[in-house]
Amino acid sequence: MCGIFGIYDHNEASNLTYLGLYALQHRGQESAGIVSSDGKKLHHHRQMGLVSEIFTRDALKKLPGKSAIGHVRYSTAGSSEVRNAQPFVVDYAKGGIAIAHNGNLTNAVLIRSELETNGSIFQCNMDTEVIVHLIARSKAKTFVERVIQAIQQVEGAYSLLFLTEREMVAVRDPFGFRPMVLGDLKGAPVIASETCALDLINANFVREIDPGEVLVIAPEGIHSLKPFKRTRSAQCIFEFIYFARPDSTLFNRNVYQVRKDLGIQLAKESPAAVDMVVPIPDSGFPATIGYASESGIPLEMGLIRNHYVGRTFIEPEQSIRHFGVKIKLNASRNLLNGRKIVTVDDSIVRATTSRKINKMLRHAGAKEIHARISSPPITHPCFFGIDTPVRSELIASSHEVKEIQKYITANSLAYLSLEGLKKCVQTEADNFCYACFTGDYPLPFPADR
Ligand code: AMP
Repeated sequence: MCGIFGIYDHNEASNLTYLGLYALQHRGQESAGIVSSDGKKLHHHRQMGLVSEIFTRDALKKLPGKSAIGHVRYSTAGSSEVRNAQPFVVDYAKGGIAIAHNGNLTNAVLIRSELETNGSIFQCNMDTEVIVHLIARSKAKTFVERVIQAIQQVEGAYSLLFLTEREMVAVRDPFGFRPMVLGDLKGAPVIASETCALDLINANFVREIDPGEVLVIAPEGIHSLKPFKRTRSAQCIFEFIYFARPDSTLFNRNVYQVRKDLGIQLAKESPAAVDMVVPIPDSGFPATIGYASESGIPLEMGLIRNHYVGRTFIEPEQSIRHFGVKIKLNASRNLLNGRKIVTVDDSIVRATTSRKINKMLRHAGAKEIHARISSPPITHPCFFGIDTPVRSELIASSHEVKEIQKYITANSLAYLSLEGLKKCVQTEADNFCYACFTGDYPLPFPADR
């Protein structure tokens, strides 16, 4: 997962990109970067860490020009180190290119080994770098034609933002796995992963970039190209369930409303006779509000979150993740002692979080814990940009619900049904990817996983 932001033809391009990245920080906390263009040259600054730590006033001053793109990273391909921080920048025969990528390419390893066999040298181990090589090798005349030739060779999930000295190009893969929107700030075009980034800088939402669209923003104006054959959309359902910020509008739906609807549906499917409903902070909140309103059971903040700790999962190391739950949450004995509770969380991945939280809740006196999950069991890894890479680590890939209930030490456990989920999100056409729940992948994936 990652977040991308860009703005074209604005006097404060890098400052606004910095703000845009702030709003998108939840999409990646390992590294961040900004590349600006002054019309003649690209300037860049990338580092490991959070946006607030990386971009000092001095760092931003060194990013002049009227156009900029930025990226926050959470590694799903390539290791977590600064050479893999984005935007990735290169100089090639025709000038500079910066690229920011959200998604995961499924044929990058194959393309890379072909390119290496033919003498290409790679600077990092990120899938995104193959796109730059394909652009540099293209014989097409214009930059946009070279981009199109390159992306027609890659497969997988990609919302991309390119910056050259003169233009900015936004691309969304034909399946539209990852979100990407177009905004407008007093005439300056803005591109962002989510609408919450537009809100922060007071930009108007114009529209989503369509799946399979290439949007070119140049001195002559904006124009849209559709170079791919039409295919069905496969927008990531997990953006709604967990990843995106609730105040964003994605895939033409407000994320908060979707999550609340999931909670309502969950309460209809799996009621419980308890004293209170407790949200698992923070991502379980909207679904809990839905669950409580549908069931009529009071909602109480039985778990308090320390807001100065990042999301547990985001760190790639197991050891850090385990520690993270304890450092992040505390159960309130005042509220919980002797009470029967329903907890609502958005998902179970490895179940380490739920197990630890339930231990904490019991320690604080909870008498019965009925766990409710506002998504179906995750049985299959994602190859399109969500960090659930290895099947064996997904508890629901090898355990029945009853076994998971036992593992997390709950008195009962119920997941939202797939039908219930679809009912909440689907319009006429089935335009989502549900592969993490079904194994029905819209594209072939690497066989070694
Ligand atoms: P686990 O302990 O592995 O079951 O973690 C589940 C928790 O992590 C849930 O509370 C989710 O909110 C959160 N979560 C789910 N998917 C992801 C993800 N891909 N990255 C980070 N956190 C996640």
